[in-house]
Amino acid sequence: MAKVLPKRSDDYSLWYNELVKKADLAENSAVRGCMIIKPYGFSIWEKMQRELDDMFKETGHQNAYFPLFIPKSYLSKEADHVEGFAKECAVVTHYRLKNDENGKGIVVDPDAKLEEELIVRPTSETIIWNTYRNWVQSYRDLPLLINQWANVVRWEMRTRLFLRTAEFLWQEGHTAHATKQEAIEETETMINIYAEFAEEFMALPVIKGLKSESERFAGALETYCIEGLMQDGKALQAGTSHFLGQNFAKAFDVKFATKEGKQEYVWGTSWGVSTRLMGALVMAHSDDEGLVLPPRLAPIQVVIVPIYKTDEDQQKIAEVAENLKKSLKKKRITVKFDDRDTHKPGFKFAEWELKGVPLRIAIGPRDLENGTVELARRDTKEKQTVNIEGIESVIEDTLELIQDNIYKKAKDFRTENTFKVDTYEDFKSQLEKTGGFISAHWDGTSETEDKIKEETKATIRCIPLDAEEESGKCIYSGKPSNKRVLFAKAY
Ligand code: AMP
Repeated sequence: MAKVLPKRSDDYSLWYNELVKKADLAENSAVRGCMIIKPYGFSIWEKMQRELDDMFKETGHQNAYFPLFIPKSYLSKEADHVEGFAKECAVVTHYRLKNDENGKGIVVDPDAKLEEELIVRPTSETIIWNTYRNWVQSYRDLPLLINQWANVVRWEMRTRLFLRTAEFLWQEGHTAHATKQEAIEETETMINIYAEFAEEFMALPVIKGLKSESERFAGALETYCIEGLMQDGKALQAGTSHFLGQNFAKAFDVKFATKEGKQEYVWGTSWGVSTRLMGALVMAHSDDEGLVLPPRLAPIQVVIVPIYKTDEDQQKIAEVAENLKKSLKKKRITVKFDDRDTHKPGFKFAEWELKGVPLRIAIGPRDLENGTVELARRDTKEKQTVNIEGIESVIEDTLELIQDNIYKKAKDFRTENTFKVDTYEDFKSQLEKTGGFISAHWDGTSETEDKIKEETKATIRCIPLDAEEESGKCIYSGKPSNKRVLFAKAY
């Protein structure tokens, strides 16, 4: 296969789009902003889901399912929430079509107008809190720790495969608690789980922090987030966890009787990650040859490519390959033996490189004689000749090395692309020159944040949870500040 991808350094954005399509992850659909996730892409998403789902269940959560349609009146019950989501809602007004007058086409039947319009869920706080009113009576019913895997629709104007789509797949956790403290702890537990998932499985180092007021979730008192840095120096918000206070409990009248018999409003949280994580995975690690997948999320961890001229060699190699496949399967390593006789080895090499398979094994006639194989790493492109005898543990160890190496590379990149600046001039020139995370003092006001965004397109990605107290002056207004925040241009 010809090397078909544009270079990252020429056009990063085009490189990303082409890679997503050529690696068979996803493609655009007839509806703008909605994507088709192809089997190879979906199998990565399924791996993500499985790991996350286990982590949610280990921390006491259960899955449930709530409807796709939300009565319009629900959405307006929490004032900030409706204000935040109204601009991007898909609304169902009718429930039937009919033939038009010439009998040629179909039109919406005006007689089939819904009494109350329905919103296609952009997020499910309203319908879930409306349900919680019936589920919660006393402190014995709390906490409620529920998660749902679903699709949601937000009518986004500027869309991008995986990173920002009009319909996306996600999970949304919605929990209810008796105390403020417990709800805050839940919010923090979940952002920690997201960070752990990003780092351990996606090999993506992330900064945990709090959003500023203007970037906060509509209806939340506090939004925690994880932020990653992509290879073009732009940041990506990869997950959020919201402390909702009693906002939704008050809007939907969800009260409980305390031990002492007093009626109190319930405290809430919600948290979510979406198919955006797929975009983060691609953008953080891949190169000009294609995807670089961390072994823990790669649908195929090892591919075996046979190299032969004669039928006899083909058969012998197939036997070795099948045996190897079996013994690797016992170690729970996913292997594909690419025995297609319709394609040449070189084509297969390029294809699996494009698809990011972490390890490639090539077996040729000389290997048969010597009892060896050629082992090639996708991340470093290193090749070595390895004895087949005992190769299983070499592969197991190498997969771990690859996982660690991809993480380290991304972390080094982030370190090299995080800058401290103390003046607005330096801020602007750093942003222009290198992009990346810029750590700077800010006076804490939305006005300043807006001005900086207007003038530079950079936003406050987060106030890092581990930010140290440090007295300084806001780079824009010169007013006092007691800690640095992280700015960046973002997706
Ligand atoms: P939110 O409910 O706005 O806090 O978003 C929850 C999660 O969904 C976050 O991890 C976002 O990164 C992600 N997300 C928000 N909007 C989109 C979108 N249009 N496409 C894909 N993911 C999104």
